[in-house]
Amino acid sequence: MTPFDVVIPASARPQLAVSLRALAAARGPAPRLVIVIDDRPGPVDPPGSLDGEAPAALRDRLVVLPGSGRGPVAARDLGWRAGTAPWIVFLEAGSAPWPDWLAALATDLSGAAEEAGAVRGHVRAPTEGDAPVGPKVALVAAGAARRGTQDVAYRRSAVMEAGGFDERFETVAGAEADLAVRMDAAGWSGMVGSRSVTSPAVEADPWQSLRLAAEIRDEALLRTIHGRVWRRRVAEAMRSEGLTGEGGRARLVRIVAQAATTTAGLGAILAFRTGRAKLAGRAGAAWAAGTAAFAWSLLPRGRVDRTAVRAALTAGALVPPVALALQVVGQARSRVVVRGPGPAPSRADGTGSPRAVLFDRDGTLVVPASFDHDLERVQPMPGAARALGRLRASGVAVGMVSDGGPPSSRPRRRAEARRLDRRVEELLGPFDVVATCTHGRAEGCRCRKPAPGNVIWAAHRLGVDPSACAVVGDADEDVVAGLAAGARAVLVPNGTTSGGALRWAPEVEPTIEGAVDLLLHGSRGGAAR
Ligand SMILES: [Mg+2]
Ligand SMILES: [Zn+2]
Repeated sequence: MTPFDVVIPASARPQLAVSLRALAAARGPAPRLVIVIDDRPGPVDPPGSLDGEAPAALRDRLVVLPGSGRGPVAARDLGWRAGTAPWIVFLEAGSAPWPDWLAALATDLSGAAEEAGAVRGHVRAPTEGDAPVGPKVALVAAGAARRGTQDVAYRRSAVMEAGGFDERFETVAGAEADLAVRMDAAGWSGMVGSRSVTSPAVEADPWQSLRLAAEIRDEALLRTIHGRVWRRRVAEAMRSEGLTGEGGRARLVRIVAQAATTTAGLGAILAFRTGRAKLAGRAGAAWAAGTAAFAWSLLPRGRVDRTAVRAALTAGALVPPVALALQVVGQARSRVVVRGPGPAPSRADGTGSPRAVLFDRDGTLVVPASFDHDLERVQPMPGAARALGRLRASGVAVGMVSDGGPPSSRPRRRAEARRLDRRVEELLGPFDVVATCTHGRAEGCRCRKPAPGNVIWAAHRLGVDPSACAVVGDADEDVVAGLAAGARAVLVPNGTTSGGALRWAPEVEPTIEGAVDLLLHGSRGGAAR
């Protein structure tokens, strides 16, 4: 049997529950871990808060990691980095695995060719029996189903080699298409397996095409990165219909129709204002015809009432010019975005020591205690000084990445945090970089762990890529922040470390010196569980 982890990025609880229930009911070999990336906006729940909601069959395999609030693509990136099995299966929250899903997945994975980097499942549209959906809704769901992002198994080593998802993409569909092309170029092929999930019902409305602004921007980005032939390259890489639910021809017809309608409308206004009434009338008629045709296509099948007609007409008039503007702006934006850093191929799994090690402060370098007002009472953790000394002697940069104070306390003021950091340096020697978040838990900043902001910032200050760094800490948050930044992460547990962290952290060492040993000489998997 081929071991696998299931990763479900979720931004809403009800959809997550649908997937977990169906997964728990499926027959076949169980996943090693079910990793939920809780990506709801706002403050992060404490680890384990979802345990009570999970079906009993999954409870001892379930790991809930706080997402970093950077959207669905970053959540997926964290998901594969947090997994440990050779295959990582991504399920979209709301997708329901079929009753034989686990058994079919086992067949898919054991039958996967050596060069298979991804095995996609089939995505079926919901039927009337699955959810209270109208025909139009089912139609949209079928379109989403063709996009094929809802059930994908990735070979972990292939994703790692590619450097993971490109987080410049805003949609999962865009990031998956890009990853497929990059994996294909590296010699990994895509396959379609035998398992199926039922896709969630999507609320459809006449404004749908404007909600697709992010998709339009991602398509422009794909075109900028992979050239004008990107659609063909994506389809070839995915060995399936690919991500483009809309056929190339239908798409062309739609864009031309939208452009023509918009041009006619603008022409009518221009002709009217310059006093050419006849021309204005003709252009206006062309605009009205185009708008009516488009509005007709937006009307729901079945029962149509006055509200539906009004919504379709309004959308029919507004969508073409706005959609056209989105296309133009998206193309211009993609040229700017593509100048930023893309994903860097990760170092091989555990081989070679990191160029920088970033330590958590409280509970890792110094004893967590109530030293708010008495810096003299700050005590180093046992072995911390020796561990740092060995790294410095080996020419590895050392950093301290911490949050202002324990989550329960009022956030330390900036000056207080600086005094404490300085005290730690007096005790343990100078750090090459110190990054301390002084925001509160509820402020939703990007630097407080588990967000990866400070890890990425510290790496950049040292002039190294985050993937060449390791984070060492005593809590879930440290490991999540490290993995989310693309770094290696080692958990050094103490009495306050959650059981969840112990269960899922990819690398665990009982002491800080052991962690440094592992990073300097060991290989992943040797000392890890
Ligand atoms: Mg800590
Ligand atoms: Zn912060």
